[in-house]
Amino acid sequence: MKKGDDQMANLEPVYNSEIICPVCEKKIKVAKVRSKFVKLKKQDDDFCPHYESVNPVLYEAWVCSHCGYAAHSTVFDNITPNGRKAILERITSNWTSRDFTGERNYEQALEAFKIVLYNLQVREAPYSEFAKICLRIAWLYRYMNMPEEEERFLKYSYDYYKKVYTRESSKNSDLDEFTIMYIIGVLAKKLNMIKDAVFWFSRLVSFSADPAERSRIKPIILQNAREQIYQLRMEMKNEDNPGDDNKSEN
Ligand SMILES: [Zn+2]
Repeated sequence: MKKGDDQMANLEPVYNSEIICPVCEKKIKVAKVRSKFVKLKKQDDDFCPHYESVNPVLYEAWVCSHCGYAAHSTVFDNITPNGRKAILERITSNWTSRDFTGERNYEQALEAFKIVLYNLQVREAPYSEFAKICLRIAWLYRYMNMPEEEERFLKYSYDYYKKVYTRESSKNSDLDEFTIMYIIGVLAKKLNMIKDAVFWFSRLVSFSADPAERSRIKPIILQNAREQIYQLRMEMKNEDNPGDDNKSEN
């Protein structure tokens, strides 16, 4: 939305953009990152991105300063009438105005994401939204080098993604069912649940035996799942036979 952009800040990586809050219907400002400043350095196997400088993940949680409605930027307008009612009754009535515009540090981003998480609870949102937000919170703790908190939110995300896979259609999610299986496998691995990780990667690979299913799986996801299984089996073998690497048959 060009019209509401701050006029004087053309060269800044982070700028405020004006939108209408779908809950209180007031004009609000949300912080956005100009894409030309976004330079990806690397990505972890759970898709956590690391950037050269400005990190757009910090700005993905949008919060309305007037009513306390908060959501991931990609689904900010997707509020149901019941969700809106729940927010007005249970969040807006207790809300003290807080400003999340402009540049954010990790703590401010974390606070915004936790307000989103609380909104999801109040709205009884789909598991896919919880899974995604818990994974983002885990990444924030990773950036902040707080491994215990990171693990706690990786576990929440793992549990929610399993619920998305078993109980919820993946049409609710911005990820297809195979990518969800892959993420469950990666999260299990990160949580040191190695057999569980092998199970989910193997399940994904087994779908590829069916040509009709195989065409629906992203090649990179299938390749990564195969590599993960290979690595994990090697690790399990080495743990069974410590110091026996030289005799390994593979
Ligand atoms: Zn609002």
